[in-house]
Amino acid sequence: MVHDNFFLIFGQIVFIIAIALLIILIISLILGVILVKKQKLIFPKMVIFTLDFLYSPLKKLASLLGFDEIMVDQIGVEIRNHINKKEFKEIDNAKKIIVFPHCLRHPKCHAKLEKTGLDCNVCGLCAIGEIKPKAEEMGYKSFIIPGSTFIKKIVENYEFESVLGIACYEDLNMSMMKLSKFKPQGVLLSRTGCYNTEVDVQTVLKKIGYINEKTNTKNSGCSKDNLNNPSKNL
Ligand code: SF4
Repeated sequence: MVHDNFFLIFGQIVFIIAIALLIILIISLILGVILVKKQKLIFPKMVIFTLDFLYSPLKKLASLLGFDEIMVDQIGVEIRNHINKKEFKEIDNAKKIIVFPHCLRHPKCHAKLEKTGLDCNVCGLCAIGEIKPKAEEMGYKSFIIPGSTFIKKIVENYEFESVLGIACYEDLNMSMMKLSKFKPQGVLLSRTGCYNTEVDVQTVLKKIGYINEKTNTKNSGCSKDNLNNPSKNL
């Protein structure tokens, strides 16, 4: 009898937890969809918490409800961009890194792969060659990596306080999730795939503070001396 009661109570507790999780998942998904469609940020930290701890169930739920699973990553990237934006701007550029995906390079790229990524010689054939010198002029350290294992090497070998990543939604969300203590910002590839991908150069230059977000003009403060705090110019 005691035995039966134990299993009854245990079953009820499991059922209540499952229902509570389902409710949290549904609420988070609804709030995420509102963010993506209407650009309204409601309880962002709760949505990020759900994304971090219930990522796979959230993707399954999205798929069951007829949404594209990638939307879950889109929600993650947009919320993280929003909640980290201010702190990212305030961090000294010399303490920031920019990480390019290796798929962005031109098919004729001759850059060699080194310990922490491609050694780009800025030949000008791809967007990396356009962004990298400007970002470095501002103080950023840049990396072009073939996969997420290189992120681990960068974290182990370099000191930095913040990161801007460029990738497809899924890679971007996962990387921003892993690097959440670095107040990450992300820019989505405009053409995804395994090679010859594309990114909107202007969007990246705005994110790093090279171009003014509001006026679309080059920041007047883009000289070596006063680039370290682009937030003054934005
Ligand atoms: S700019 Fe750099 S990454 Fe792009 S193709 Fe040239 S060497 Fe390769």
